[in-house]
Amino acid sequence: MDFPADEVDVANCHHAGNSIMGLPNQPPPRRSWAVPELPEVETIVRQLRPELVGRRIESVRVHWPRSIARPSARSFCADLVGARIEKVWRRAKYFVFSIESGGHVVGHLRMSGRLYVGDGPDPDYLRVSFQLDDGRQLSFVDVRKFGRLALVDDVEAFLPHIGPEPLGPDLTPEWMRRELRARRRQLKPLLLDQSFLAGLGNIYVDETLHQAGLHPLRRSDRVPGARAEELALCIRDVLSKAVKAEGSSFDTFYRTPEGQPGAYQEDFQVYGRDGKPCRSCGTLITKLVVAQRGTHVCHRCQPAPRPRRRS
Ligand SMILES: [Zn+2]
Repeated sequence: MDFPADEVDVANCHHAGNSIMGLPNQPPPRRSWAVPELPEVETIVRQLRPELVGRRIESVRVHWPRSIARPSARSFCADLVGARIEKVWRRAKYFVFSIESGGHVVGHLRMSGRLYVGDGPDPDYLRVSFQLDDGRQLSFVDVRKFGRLALVDDVEAFLPHIGPEPLGPDLTPEWMRRELRARRRQLKPLLLDQSFLAGLGNIYVDETLHQAGLHPLRRSDRVPGARAEELALCIRDVLSKAVKAEGSSFDTFYRTPEGQPGAYQEDFQVYGRDGKPCRSCGTLITKLVVAQRGTHVCHRCQPAPRPRRRS
């Protein structure tokens, strides 16, 4: 299974249903929609956990079969009848409901997928509904139909290779120092690469690089060791604050499961602030395109890399 693109070209929406949880070889986005990143998915998981853990699924209805990546929609429904949800957790930008008797429902919200306990505000866009033993319903609502659910035996085997969790114990300053040195990649594409580090997308990479004072085009092996270590701390700091603020609501699509917008966008230092003064130094924020992604930079706080002189 391919890891889904973070942002997709809206003009290609009609192709979306053909791929499984992802859009391989996606052309560069013409218009982008921000999708939930790690803090948003973590917020959803934390809010759903007390509602779902211990609940038994009495029945499942699939209203849009392509929302189910695997197995077939029919098997997905049949296999989950009577299943008790034991654990609700997150890996990278995926949410996972682990079933007591084995198996896991793994899902990615993509652009507009949402989960509600209850009917949700958009019955027209209801794609999958789970009847729970307490009489309530878990609703998977998805306006644009890019979101996917799968029922799998082994989560790690099902997902593509994903790097360490940035809020877990594996992301240490020493790890970052070693890994940046071992690679010769520009920082922004490297941090967006899910096989390097899990869960970061366009917004939080821009925010993190600004906090770390590193230009997105800097080459990883040329970042001094101490700065690399600081970058690890900045990633944890930015993500922790965003989780605490329950993520960011940058458009009308993302809401917490309770229908509330996250608040972290009010703290953005650079993302979406092109043309506005940097909150640290007053320099106007510039927007560049790096790795085909809109990238927000303060040229004073994040000096551009100088070409190396040959001697
Ligand atoms: Zn600045």
